[in-house]
Amino acid sequence: MNRAQSEALFAEALKYIPGGVNSPVRAFRAVGGQPFFVNHAGGCKLQDVDGNELIDYVLTWGPAILGHAHPKIIAAVKAAADHGTSFGIPNPFEVTMAKMICELVPSVRKVRMTNSGTEACMSAIRLARGFTKRDKIIKFDGCYHGHADSLLVRAGSGALTFGNPDSAGVPAAFTQHTIVLPYNDFEAVTAAFAANQDQIAGIIIEPVPGNAGLYLPKPGYLEFLREITASHGSLLIFDEVMTGFRLAKGGAQERFKITPDLSTFGKVIGGGLPVGAFGGRAEIMDYLAPLGPVYQAGTLSGNPLAMAAGIANLQELLATDAYAKLEQLGAQLAAGMRDAAKSAGVPVQFNQCGSMFCGYFTDQPVHNLADAMHSDRERFKRYFHGLLDSGVYLAPSQFEAGFLSTAHTATDIEKTVSAAAKVLRTL
Ligand SMILES: *Cc1c(COP(=O)(O)O)cnc(C)c1O
Repeated sequence: MNRAQSEALFAEALKYIPGGVNSPVRAFRAVGGQPFFVNHAGGCKLQDVDGNELIDYVLTWGPAILGHAHPKIIAAVKAAADHGTSFGIPNPFEVTMAKMICELVPSVRKVRMTNSGTEACMSAIRLARGFTKRDKIIKFDGCYHGHADSLLVRAGSGALTFGNPDSAGVPAAFTQHTIVLPYNDFEAVTAAFAANQDQIAGIIIEPVPGNAGLYLPKPGYLEFLREITASHGSLLIFDEVMTGFRLAKGGAQERFKITPDLSTFGKVIGGGLPVGAFGGRAEIMDYLAPLGPVYQAGTLSGNPLAMAAGIANLQELLATDAYAKLEQLGAQLAAGMRDAAKSAGVPVQFNQCGSMFCGYFTDQPVHNLADAMHSDRERFKRYFHGLLDSGVYLAPSQFEAGFLSTAHTATDIEKTVSAAAKVLRTL
């Protein structure tokens, strides 16, 4: 595969951008080699600057649930742009968006928009602390809630990929109120509440963690977290930046029938523009300025282009039979991949939930970060490059979830599975 133009651009990028990228996993350090540059994407395909076409399972890390450059989203953004790119005073799209979120996610009675998932999580934590008048937060090993200081402790995604889940530059004092526990471990949570009576503001969790690959909550685990937080006057915060509007129209909370106090969103809700949101019970949300004492703001929050893109994305998801299709594609991919691994004799745990998936190279089930770390990462590297050379793009790290869109077809999945079957036999 010719990648001359990508190589030239990357050499230039390295001179001016740290590591040549604006977000670390994109640099391909976890898999070796160099990133390719893209100047066009449509449907489930990316086209790099050298003209190579790839079936994309990264989907700009989740947002492109309808595939890339969906005509309705592009039209909505163009139409909005004709009227101005930002006003700094309320615009009608903000009301439409807020109303849609509240209707789709019943636990959310009021919602505020941000510019990223990081901001949404950072603000939700501040709000939980302000509302409960408590300082401590429980988070889980390998869960990623963006790169705000107090949450960058044993975090997933790039932080984990590069072996620094605890970032330099975060004073210990900033994270001393963050309690980090293993995911899916009931006992650890009970013990933490016993040891920190009346001090825990809340638990923040990815209900289906997708930033250390992908694993699912054990039966009863999310129910247990709902109950223990409620009984201690703590808040349950679902970080649905990845799962929101993806695992169901109402997110993981609809799929698993749990009602959190606060939720955070991003990715799908922005339709590929920079957006985040956090929302929940009205009396908690009313603690935010200007009504309450918890400060939170944003020059571009509720930006009309971003709102227009997000609204178009959500409307199209609702108008089509999107979720049924995504479930079908996910099941097809999982069945195909498990078969391919089995016939190649390679031990793989292929975890899948709706349109999210991850294959780990281990013969042991993966329920948390410690299990995920058993995956053979050297094998993953060879697998990743084998697939890339066959025209299939997976996230360039073992510790990222893969995504499907409604633009993928059964034929795309078949092609992917047969490419994977070939590569697996060479591992
Ligand atoms: C992507 C992600 C974030 C951070 O969102 P950004 O928009 O990258 O700041 C937070 N939480 C989860 C679960 C995510 O997947």
